[in-house]
Amino acid sequence: MSDLNIAVIGAGAIGLTTALEVQKEFRNARVTVLAEKFNTDTTSFVAAGLFRPGTSFCGPTETITRKWINDSYHHWNDLNVTAEASLAGVTELSGYMFSKISPDIVRNSYLEGLLPIYRAATEEELSLCNGGWKYGSFFSTLLIECGLYLPWAANKFLGGNGTIETKKLSSLSELAGKYDAVINCTGLGAKYLCNDFKLVPIRGQVLKVHAPWCKTFFYAEFDTYIIPGFNSVTLGGCRQYDSFNLDICKYDYLSIQERCESLLPSIKSSPLIGQRVGLRPHRDPVRVEKEIVATPTDKLKVVHNYGHGGYGVTTAPGTSKHAVELLREILIGNSKM
Ligand SMILES: Cc1cc2nc3c(=O)[nH]c(=O)nc-3n(C[C@H](O)[C@H](O)[C@H](O)COP(=O)(O)OP(=O)(O)OC[C@H]3O[C@@H](n4cnc5c(N)ncnc54)[C@H](O)[C@@H]3O)c2cc1C
Repeated sequence: MSDLNIAVIGAGAIGLTTALEVQKEFRNARVTVLAEKFNTDTTSFVAAGLFRPGTSFCGPTETITRKWINDSYHHWNDLNVTAEASLAGVTELSGYMFSKISPDIVRNSYLEGLLPIYRAATEEELSLCNGGWKYGSFFSTLLIECGLYLPWAANKFLGGNGTIETKKLSSLSELAGKYDAVINCTGLGAKYLCNDFKLVPIRGQVLKVHAPWCKTFFYAEFDTYIIPGFNSVTLGGCRQYDSFNLDICKYDYLSIQERCESLLPSIKSSPLIGQRVGLRPHRDPVRVEKEIVATPTDKLKVVHNYGHGGYGVTTAPGTSKHAVELLREILIGNSKM
């Protein structure tokens, strides 16, 4: 497999993590990342980057989903103990999740047993924040800030002799005959590239504020969250199903501000640095699959890796590892498809 020519489409968290995994597993291959948008123009850049798969996150089977999550956690945790961690935007972060409705809301079976600490909040902790919380959990997890991770990953990829090209594809068939195989990490772009109507945008808006004293994350009901990052604190949020609106909405801004300030009054005086909007590429299940795409001129070997919804930064390493295993199978003609 020494003369392999592989393309990864997409330069968000999924595309760049996959490209690095291809380089690691196929040391002699020529690897190219093709993407229309990079860094600050991607959905990945909008993410707060908390390692927290929602309980609804799902792959094709529970076993596979858990493997993706476990592999991802160990990948990020290994990176976190290297000298590269802060350059790659990875750090430890602890915090709370609160609910008034049900104890189930603050439990997460993917994380209990995986994270070093995941426990019920004490009575005293339940009153750390305003809101009269009845149920709570405290956990120690990781944060992956894409504002740092995406450029770090792109540089690492280029340093490993990878090539990056700016290109918008209208069809996968444009790549037929040019590559031995391609990995499709186009997020919501796959809706059009693959005519995949299972992909639905879930719009989110966040505020970035300057509040360096805030070192703990707080996650409450109705998508209200306060997540400290490297250079700012993210306040969120909202989840608007099937909305394609990429404009900042003043009503979302006011709602996020009011909910977060009521949860943690000390952030009231924090200067606003900016606002971001992104469309989470939701698909049930996330698609990590092989496909031979018939084109007018040739047959193209494709591995898909998209549809991570609100949990793509969390799960990028695990699904990328799986996608690269499928790449190996498709290249050697393994017919388990
Ligand atoms: C407000 C908000 C908060 C979030 N918070 C978190 C969080 O705390 N933790 C977490 O894990 N996740 C979070 N997410 C989710 C996370 O952002 C996504 O799951 C993740 O970014 C998806 O990554 P991706 O690489 O698939 O997509 P993207 O980042 O959108 O990248 C897609 C890439 O494909 C390229 N592309 C698409 N179509 C084409 C085409 N036709 N031709 C060429 N290139 C193409 C694009 O240009 C881009 O480079 C959040 C999302 C939002 C909106």
